[in-house]
Amino acid sequence: MYDVIVVGARCAGSPLAMLLARKGHRVVVLDRAAFPRDTVSTHYIQPSGLSRLARWGLLDRLTATGCPPVTEALWWFGETSVRGFAPPSGDIGFALAPRRTVLDALLVDAAREAGAEIRERCTVRSLVRDEDGTLTGVRFQREGGAEETLRAPVVIGADGRNSIVARQTGAAAYHTRPPLTVVYYTYWRGLSPERRHRNEVFLEGDKQIGVIPTHDDAYLVQAARPHDFFGTYRSDIERHYLKAVEEAAPSLAEELAGAERVERFRGSATLENFYRKPYGPGWALVGDAGYHKDPLTGQGISDAWRDAEFLAEALDTVRGGGADWETALSAYERARNAASELIYDFTCEAASFEFDPMTRQLVRVLAEHRDEADRFFGVIAGTVPAERFFAPDNLLSMLGRLPGDALAELTGTEGTP
Ligand SMILES: Cc1cc2nc3c(=O)[nH]c(=O)nc-3n(C[C@H](O)[C@H](O)[C@H](O)COP(=O)(O)OP(=O)(O)OC[C@H]3O[C@@H](n4cnc5c(N)ncnc54)[C@H](O)[C@@H]3O)c2cc1C
Repeated sequence: MYDVIVVGARCAGSPLAMLLARKGHRVVVLDRAAFPRDTVSTHYIQPSGLSRLARWGLLDRLTATGCPPVTEALWWFGETSVRGFAPPSGDIGFALAPRRTVLDALLVDAAREAGAEIRERCTVRSLVRDEDGTLTGVRFQREGGAEETLRAPVVIGADGRNSIVARQTGAAAYHTRPPLTVVYYTYWRGLSPERRHRNEVFLEGDKQIGVIPTHDDAYLVQAARPHDFFGTYRSDIERHYLKAVEEAAPSLAEELAGAERVERFRGSATLENFYRKPYGPGWALVGDAGYHKDPLTGQGISDAWRDAEFLAEALDTVRGGGADWETALSAYERARNAASELIYDFTCEAASFEFDPMTRQLVRVLAEHRDEADRFFGVIAGTVPAERFFAPDNLLSMLGRLPGDALAELTGTEGTP
C-alpha cells in the first residue's frame, strides 16, 4: 500500500515525505512524538535553508509566525570583532531562528497537506526483513498499544543521530570525531532591542556564547564548553552557564542580570561528529541519522532540508526507471558529502576551540574588510561556495591584505624593509 515508510517527522522526515508525496509517492511517516513538540536544539536557520523553504512554498508561512529576521552577524574572536552578513541566497537576505515547536509542526502540516500520512505517537521498535535480508518494513507500537507491522519497499531513517534504522542496518560511520563540546541554552526576555535582528557569537578561549532572537520577544542564549567540561557543567548548570557568559561576554552578562529568564535550561553533550553510509538495499538515511556534526555553526536544519531534496530526487529517479538503486543512491551520498565536507571540517575546528595561527590571522582580515567578512558568513550560511573560500589562492589573497608585521609573524620571517 505504501511506497515509502519514513521514520521521524522533524526537519529531515517531513520535508522528504512532502517532496515525495508531491511527486506522487505513497508515503507514511511514523514519529514517537506528537506535534507541536519541542526538542533539544537551538534553531538558527541559514539563508540557504530558507531559500529551500521558499522554493517549497513554506517560507511565507514561517515568517507570518512573527519570528524576527536576522540581518546582521557579529562574531567576537576574543577582542576582535567581525561584523557582516552573508550575501543573499537568491532573494533571501536573512536568517531566522524559529522555535522548533513552530517550525516542526509547520513541516509536519506541509507533509500532511501534500498527501503523506503522518502517524504520531508511533515508536518504531525494529526493522522487518525478508529471507534474503532485504528490508521490507518496520514493527512499530502506538502509544499504549500492541506492536504492529507496516510494509513498504523502501524504509527511510529520518530518526535523528541515534537512528534505529542506522543501528539495525549497521550503516557504517566514517570521518568520525568524538563529541567536542557540551552546550546548554535557555531563553531570556528584556535584552537590548539592538539584538532583535542580530546573531552575536563570542568565542573566547574555551567558551562559545551565542545569542539569537526568536519568537515572543525572546532571545536564545547558549553557552558551549569543551566536552570534557560536561561533568562539571552538569553539576551546576546555571552557575557554569552564567560564569561562562561573564568571562566570555561581560557586557552580555550585565544585560542578563537585568533580564528575565523565561525557560529552563536544556542542552546536550552527546554531539558526535560523523557521516554514515546513507543507504543499502531497501533503506536510506537522511538528516542527522546520516550526517551529524557539532551544532556550533548551525548547519543541521539547513543540511537536513538539502539532503531531503537530494534524496527525494534520487528515490524519484529510481521509481521513474531513470537509474537503478545503487547508481541513484550513491549519487545522493556523493552530493551530500561534496556539499558538506569543508564546512564539516571547519565546524570541527571551531568546536575544538583551537584555531590555528593562519585562522587567527584570517580573522584579522575579516575584522578589517567587510567584503571578506560577508563572504566568510556566506560560507557558514551556504551562500558562498566553501571550496572557493577555502581555496589556497583565496586564502593567500586574503592574507595578502594583512599589514606587513602580521604577515611576518605568520611566516616567521623578518618584516620586509
Ligand atoms: C544543542 C543543539 C543545538 C542545535 N542548534 C542548531 C542550530 O542552531 N541550527 C541548526 O540548523 N541545527 C541545530 N542543531 C541540529 C538540529 O537540531 C538537527 O540537525 C536537526 O534537528 C536534524 O533533524 P532530523 O529530522 O534529522 O532529526 P531530529 O530533529 O532528531 O528528529 C528525529 C525525529 O525522529 C523521531 N524518532 C527517533 N527515533 C524514532 C523511533 N524509533 N520511532 C519513531 N520516531 C522516532 C524523533 O521523535 C524525532 O521527532 C542543534 C542540535 C543540538 C542538539
